[in-house]
Amino acid sequence: MQEKGTISIHTENIFPIIKKFLYSDHEIFLRELVSNAVDATQKLKRLSSLGQVKGEVGDLRVEVAFDEAKKTITISDNGIGMTADEIKKYINQIAFSGATEFMEKFKEANDANEIIGRFGLGFYSAFMVADRVDIETLSYQEGAEPARWTCDGSTEFELSEGSLTERGTEITLHINPDSEEFLSKYRLQEILDKYCRFLPVPIIFGTKTDEEPDGEDEEGKPKYKSVELPNVINDTNPIWTKSPNDLKDEDYLEFYKQLYPFSEEPLFWIHLNVDYPFNLTGVLYFPKVKNEFDFQRNKIKLYSRQVFITDEVKDIVPEFLMLLHGVIDSPDIPLNVSRSFLQADSNVKKINTYITKKVADKLAELFKNDRAGFEEKWPDIGLFVKYGIVSDEKFYDKAKDFVMLTNTEKQNFTLTEYKDKVAAEQTDKDGRLTYLYTTDPQKQDAFIQSAIKKGYDVLVLNSPIDNHFISSLEQKLEKTSLKRVDSDVADKLIKKDDNPPYILTEEQTTQVKDIFDKAINKPAYKVELESLNPDDMPVTVTMDEFMRRMKEMAQMGGGMGFYGNMPDNYKVVINANHKLISKILEAGEEVQPQLAKQAFDLALLSQGLLTGAELTAFVNRSVSLI
Ligand code: ADP
Repeated sequence: MQEKGTISIHTENIFPIIKKFLYSDHEIFLRELVSNAVDATQKLKRLSSLGQVKGEVGDLRVEVAFDEAKKTITISDNGIGMTADEIKKYINQIAFSGATEFMEKFKEANDANEIIGRFGLGFYSAFMVADRVDIETLSYQEGAEPARWTCDGSTEFELSEGSLTERGTEITLHINPDSEEFLSKYRLQEILDKYCRFLPVPIIFGTKTDEEPDGEDEEGKPKYKSVELPNVINDTNPIWTKSPNDLKDEDYLEFYKQLYPFSEEPLFWIHLNVDYPFNLTGVLYFPKVKNEFDFQRNKIKLYSRQVFITDEVKDIVPEFLMLLHGVIDSPDIPLNVSRSFLQADSNVKKINTYITKKVADKLAELFKNDRAGFEEKWPDIGLFVKYGIVSDEKFYDKAKDFVMLTNTEKQNFTLTEYKDKVAAEQTDKDGRLTYLYTTDPQKQDAFIQSAIKKGYDVLVLNSPIDNHFISSLEQKLEKTSLKRVDSDVADKLIKKDDNPPYILTEEQTTQVKDIFDKAINKPAYKVELESLNPDDMPVTVTMDEFMRRMKEMAQMGGGMGFYGNMPDNYKVVINANHKLISKILEAGEEVQPQLAKQAFDLALLSQGLLTGAELTAFVNRSVSLI
């Protein structure tokens, strides 16, 4: 029996297109061929369990081998095999609806995955790296004859009698000169590790044994090629395929180490396991991260029936959970379609919602069962939670019960607890609550102390996400605003009707303002006199909350060009009721500017704003004043 024919594609030749178009992803040929081999063994297993296979199926396995001298890579399996008719049906008629459609669609496709998936070109990806492909196969069916198929990358193929004596399929790629990088143990190992590490059937990788001697050594004895012992490279039962009831903490930690060998232990994890309305399994880990710059995205690996697909899970996992680590396996995620399609896919949306819910539930459970442990982990999980709150309404609904606000005393409060704590002292004359916060407890210490002296509490909100977190709290909490502790003098941070009487006359006010304006002599600093508590600082430099936020947003790329270009503007608040101000008024005209400058510099100094030449001048002036 020998048959020649033409592969049924109407365009002259599909292979140049495959080769050229799929250039960047050549390595996935191995994933495709090994997956086909695994599928063949799985099909056999299923048929056998249905009683449709005669005799023993034996140990199912897939073997990958290469021969550097012959420039071949061979993938073999002991799965169902194919009859000659099946080859004609499955291999010759490339599984897509028509060449015209293909030519149209392939222009829109973004990468190899997309083309291969859409058009069932898995097997043909072999031609990305090979200029000839041979199939030797023997079907499991009783009385089946072995078949051999060979194709040199043109649309011509040859189908003839095969030589296999055992059930299964052996695919040999004759690697083309451009792809010889794949004839390397390390390269192949790398690809297998990436895509095949958790396949459900043992994958055996090793160099093929040559029975014949490969020349002679110096002493004239026959020389055999060094043969490495083939070994199983995969874990056929990764933990996400098991039931959570059968797993201990050690198993999860062990698996984490396997995935991310150089990472610190994770904080905790979530085992995902659903089969309706979509099928999804996986384990997501919360890594230890102290700040946003530690975050490494693309740490979640996406699998489909244990075949690695990608670590770009952008559209499947909610943005804020991209910071998690771990594995998601779902045959229901359309893997081979474009981004926009993925975003619109209803399964993907459901998966997204499901993951968000599971994560929120897990956090709620931790909070409820072990508040102390939760607080201890808060510095690490706070970022996720805040990120989730600002980006996902549904997540906020759950997270509002366990998000922690931490104050300068390192005490943690839930939103309700905090409201109860500060309501009495921090409600202004219009009934609005004001939460005070610091972004830098060191630098803003003077302000923090003044606020605490007034009986206020100060939150620490010092991570980059806190900017957004503050805005979302203001949107979500009723009649509540947040103010940075240095945005005004302590007396004015929360407007109440209890200001002490103003002791200066109008004339004195103008005089003081004048003295300070001249002494400071910088347009960015606007001097104002206020009636404050005589015990407060004589001079305070503040930056308006609104202006500062606008500037910060502009700097983060919020698109507010106008504010971004504004110079920093400060308010110099003079405490009209302070003894020092009266003293300046009484002093001689020569010392007035010196005293004013000194008081102003002290204010700057307490905020870490006095540096360089100005600091030196301040020190010199202080010495001469003493
Ligand atoms: P897909 O796997 O998407 O159907 P492929 O081009 O990869 O497309 O394979 C086409 C068909 O060829 C498979 O569906 C299967 O029927 C058959 N096939 C491929 N490889 C093997 C194999 N190793 N053993 C048995 N059948 C195979």
